[in-house]
Amino acid sequence: MTGLELPPIGYGTSGDETDAVWTDSVAAALDAGYRHVDTAQMYENEAQVGAGIRQSSVDRSEVVLATKVHPTNLAPDDVRRTTRESLDRLGVDSVDMLYVHWPARAYDPETTLPAFDALHDEGLVDHVCLSNFTPALLDEARSILDAPVAAHQVECHPLLPQRELRAYAEQHGHRLVAYSPLGRGQILDHPVLAEVAAKHDVSTAQVCLAWAVAHDIVPIPKATGTHITENLAATSLSLDTADLAAIDSIEERQRVIDPDIGPWNRE
Ligand code: NAP
Repeated sequence: MTGLELPPIGYGTSGDETDAVWTDSVAAALDAGYRHVDTAQMYENEAQVGAGIRQSSVDRSEVVLATKVHPTNLAPDDVRRTTRESLDRLGVDSVDMLYVHWPARAYDPETTLPAFDALHDEGLVDHVCLSNFTPALLDEARSILDAPVAAHQVECHPLLPQRELRAYAEQHGHRLVAYSPLGRGQILDHPVLAEVAAKHDVSTAQVCLAWAVAHDIVPIPKATGTHITENLAATSLSLDTADLAAIDSIEERQRVIDPDIGPWNRE
């Protein structure tokens, strides 16, 4: 056990929104009941996310706050320097989760990961987390890190169910966090998802999120406006065995995030 407790659904913050929209959306998400907020150096909105937390009625101590070190900042001195810069932008003394965003560019496990351990030892980072790793890269990282891996974040949704990485997470005791859990909106008209949604009189987005929760996956959908509360309401949607069997037998595969950034997981 790593001690990391994540609510069933978190809130993602990657997108082209303006500064004010991010601040207001993060505040709205927290006021609506989200307690896990995911940002990254790459999103260039840490200051706005921090402002959103302060603007909300929720105390910082109740929020599981995650950020990620940019792949170009993974040399050890840069990990230390840029993580402190992230904390300054967020306006916090520590983050709950710090991810290696991608095992690419400046990532060198022998030097990058001890820098994460040092931040963990200093109390600037509560939980060391990884993103976009393969099982082999997870094995390697776990053999180097002193701190336990608390979460592994990858693209995951009904058209990219990540069975191998889910089994790996269960076996090794970390959480599987699903990014792009709605496939960035590109999978929401799938007929099987639409059929399950119609049966329960909910949206296909809610079906995607309830599917993840039913499989012990932590989805972090990005949303603005009314989607914020719609997505959180998926926690009260209970899919039955037939629904899950229908979704789990979808054979099409679709990956919506595929940047030319280095090695990443493949099904
Ligand atoms: P996503 O959450 O699958 O999809 C976001 C898109 O879906 C937005 O266009 C949003 O539009 C729309 N949407 C949200 N709720 C909806 C609903 N109920 N009905 C219809 N459309 C809805 O994609 P994502 O932003 O790529 O992934 C989520 C988070 O994961 C990111 O924000 C980021 O925090 C993280 N992430 C991490 C990595 C990584 O490498 N670790 C990569 C990508 C993403 P509106 O804004 O209009 O609501």
